[in-house]
Amino acid sequence: MKEVIVADPTGFCFGVKRAIDGITQALAEEDDVWSIGMPIHNAQEVARLSAMGLKVAEGVEDIPNGARVLIRAHGESRAVLRELQDRGARVVDMTCPFVRRAQDHADRLSAEGFDVVLLGDARHPEIRAIMGCVDGPLEVVADVQDAEKLSRRRRMALISQTTQQEECLIAVAAALVKKAEELYVCNTVCRATVERQDAVRGLAGKVDGVLVVGGRDSANTARLRDIAVANGMDVLWIDNIDEMNGGWLEGKNQIGIVAGASTPQWLITEVCSKIARM
Ligand code: SF4
Repeated sequence: MKEVIVADPTGFCFGVKRAIDGITQALAEEDDVWSIGMPIHNAQEVARLSAMGLKVAEGVEDIPNGARVLIRAHGESRAVLRELQDRGARVVDMTCPFVRRAQDHADRLSAEGFDVVLLGDARHPEIRAIMGCVDGPLEVVADVQDAEKLSRRRRMALISQTTQQEECLIAVAAALVKKAEELYVCNTVCRATVERQDAVRGLAGKVDGVLVVGGRDSANTARLRDIAVANGMDVLWIDNIDEMNGGWLEGKNQIGIVAGASTPQWLITEVCSKIARM
């Protein structure tokens, strides 16, 4: 191995850093701080925060009355926020402002009579939270094929999960042009996502392989892997340092390292050190 190129930017984005700072500050003020679901899609970082006292509840029904509760960067639905209020929870809202923008667009356009179409993964907490901000008709599409199955409507508003590829948003918008008399498209893909995706594309032709570091359920990490594969790169996706595979490194002179927006810098540094030792 001659060279390791760490993509720039890579790893924690603004919204994740902000949420972790919020948790750390809350834990410095009191022992019991709760999160509904994993606060970020990285098991090692969640383990580190749990060791500091963070408690992860599976659902809002597990939150004790009056508890201090952190809303993660993905945001929460109105129903969950109402339930927290009923339980007297003291909420620290760390919804990323870029996710909030997508929620606000969805809420406003639905109220104006648009049928909302969300591009993203229907199981992802960010999409579930946006769905929970809309009272009117709403559909979730994962790709162009899903969009083409939608029936024709008078007014449609297309909003994207913040971690999608802009190319996919453009393709879905093109498919929906034929489905509505009036189509309103909001580009809610966040800049941190675009910059990290461009950094992966920038490695094409410069490296013999790309190591993707990030949680398996991290949507933005999955996109980085997809982009590397689509650009013909040999990819190894690892969730943690134990998955580093010496065999994959064999015969490679240059490798690139990219990490999802929920991957901490300390893990990227550990991966680089392990490669150096190997
Ligand atoms: S990926 Fe973008 S939208 Fe999501 S938390 Fe980070 S900055 Fe916010």
